[in-house]
Amino acid sequence: MEELALFGGAKTKTTPFGAGKRFGAEELRELEEALNQNTLFYHFGNKVKTFLSDFNSMYDVTYSVATSSGTAAIHVALGAAGVTVGDEVITSPITDAGTVIGILYQNAIPAFADLEPETYNMSPASIEARITKRTKAIVVVHLAGNPCDMDAIMDIARRHKLVVIEDCAQAYLTRYKGKLVGTIGDYGCFSTNDFKHISTGDGGIVTINSGEDMDYMTAHAFADKNYSRFGAVVQRDITGLAPNYRMTELQGAVGIAQLKKLGRICERRTVLGDRITQGIAGAPGIRPHRVEAGNRCTYWFYMLRLDLSALDCTREQFCRALEAEGVPNRAGYIPSVLYMQPMFQNRSAYKNSAFPFELSDVAYDAGSCPEAEAILETAVQIPVSEFYSDEDAEAIAAAVRKVASAYSKR
Ligand SMILES: *Cc1c(COP(=O)(O)O)cnc(C)c1O
Repeated sequence: MEELALFGGAKTKTTPFGAGKRFGAEELRELEEALNQNTLFYHFGNKVKTFLSDFNSMYDVTYSVATSSGTAAIHVALGAAGVTVGDEVITSPITDAGTVIGILYQNAIPAFADLEPETYNMSPASIEARITKRTKAIVVVHLAGNPCDMDAIMDIARRHKLVVIEDCAQAYLTRYKGKLVGTIGDYGCFSTNDFKHISTGDGGIVTINSGEDMDYMTAHAFADKNYSRFGAVVQRDITGLAPNYRMTELQGAVGIAQLKKLGRICERRTVLGDRITQGIAGAPGIRPHRVEAGNRCTYWFYMLRLDLSALDCTREQFCRALEAEGVPNRAGYIPSVLYMQPMFQNRSAYKNSAFPFELSDVAYDAGSCPEAEAILETAVQIPVSEFYSDEDAEAIAAAVRKVASAYSKR
């Protein structure tokens, strides 16, 4: 057996991983044009409008709204859908805080469904089990660019008359049975924060998929203080509460240039992630990041799981050994399932208040989503970049195989 680099053996990965510049002359030209408009306001300029129309063409949707972040995009979808005080919203316990922030700002209560062990996405059976008479919506999270089981989820939503909001912050050009995620539910929410497939510094997009003008106008207004700005018609009566989540022309300008790169970015990520999966197939104690047949994952990251009963090491030892082989990685993902975080354990979102948690019986007990907890305890996250070469992916797989064989109990 090959000696692990951790114990003085030869390192698997000795050359640097592929790297590159995300922004260039294209972004600069768009930014210059934006400034030359002499306005940076989305309603007067053309950059945000062009960004959205390019996005709509790429996704083949009619309506979308730009926002200041992915968190804002999700809040806009919830607000536009009428999610309100005392409603329950079912979502994933393994996600960014941005998935639940809008729920609580609407004074609705997040409830968490358990996950599938191999895709790390919400289990339809668990979603259905968490539905109560207060449930109003489901926020599905396509984690790491891997699509949720949307047929089953849409079927549950229709039967229980629930709104479906897709959190696509990690899932650009992800396909579920050929369909782009973000176009399947009632709303699709994207983030262009600096860590996502494409970046505008910060920013977000909401798609409105009902095909109804009215739903589009409601979402549009909800991102802009409930003001309605359509062409020359501007209506500023205050008919209800809405935040200011507007995107500026500077973000729109960068977004136009970034969108042109998105196809290639996602293609590379799909190839690289799938290659890692092929390369580690059958390695002892390794459970690859599963993508169901017929789906396309665009790997915002790669996350495998360890079967520690088959390995003679802890996860931390495995991660250190992999690091020593020259493959950067992280044990787990977020620090804990969301419901174990202090805000949920203390049932306090607003300082000195139990509102809105006190309106519902949703519990946040340890063990309530056992599979999600087990995923976080056994996961190893490996970064994927569109700048990686095929050889980089092969080296990642080779290093995982080497460490797995070295610690295998077989
Ligand atoms: C990044 C992210 C968000 C929030 O996006 P921001 O632009 O950072 O507000 C929400 N959900 C998921 C799954 C994310 O990865």
